[in-house]
Amino acid sequence: MNNDTTINIAWLYPDLMSTYGDRGNIIILTKRLVWRGFKVKVTEISLGSTNNLLQKADLIFMGGAQDQQQEIVSKDLRKRQTLLKELIDHQRLPCLFICGAYQFMGNYYLSANGQEIPGLGIFDLYTINPGQKAKRLIGNTFARINIPGLQNEIMAGFENHGGRTFLSNKETAIAKVITGYGNNGQDNTEGVIHQRAIGSYLHGPILAKSPKLADWLLSHALHHSFGEKIELSPLDDRLEERTKQQLLGQIPTGQKNTDGLD
Ligand code: GLN
Repeated sequence: MNNDTTINIAWLYPDLMSTYGDRGNIIILTKRLVWRGFKVKVTEISLGSTNNLLQKADLIFMGGAQDQQQEIVSKDLRKRQTLLKELIDHQRLPCLFICGAYQFMGNYYLSANGQEIPGLGIFDLYTINPGQKAKRLIGNTFARINIPGLQNEIMAGFENHGGRTFLSNKETAIAKVITGYGNNGQDNTEGVIHQRAIGSYLHGPILAKSPKLADWLLSHALHHSFGEKIELSPLDDRLEERTKQQLLGQIPTGQKNTDGLD
């Protein structure tokens, strides 16, 4: 392992797509690498940035936004479709896409004003925003993760979206909702996983209360950067875990989907 190696994190559209604390995910990813002695470089990629910057990434992050920002970003993002597909499908790059970004990676997003925003078709899903016809899905969410290496881990965050996302295959959900709405408020699924790319509705930021998910992403980023599996030394996450358990304990049993809890 070469200690001079820098882990490159690409942050897509930080100026337009970063809401409800999403930028905190970048702080968490960076700190958890630095605390373990790794060098990190965060590259911000926005409208008009060259794709070379994206090519160097070991991990990609993109946060959420409202429909207006999504419309602005949509055209620029489509220029990166082939590269993002290659990075995710073939290089199996770890990625985290939150809310509006998650919707973008699907097949299409039908916005609140009825406009169809084409997605990148990386995740096999679609999203429909019924606008005024239905309430927004807002609140604190807990969900049980079900992906290799993270079974039964509980992730927690805050969601606020009008869009309802439907997966072509529900088995590709990253987690099962314990309380909250998740993908659509109907089928108890939350988020999606495809290769090593994750989509989720949870803001908050999600990685603050789900440090194991942060390390899952980081271990794949290290593998990508060093070309070999690197063990991550443990960090003291007791405070984060206690916070999560306490918040979960405050939710009345009747409001929990016990199915999601086993
Ligand atoms: N515009 C999307 C929706 O309302 C995304 C919202 C978000 O990223 N918080 O569904």
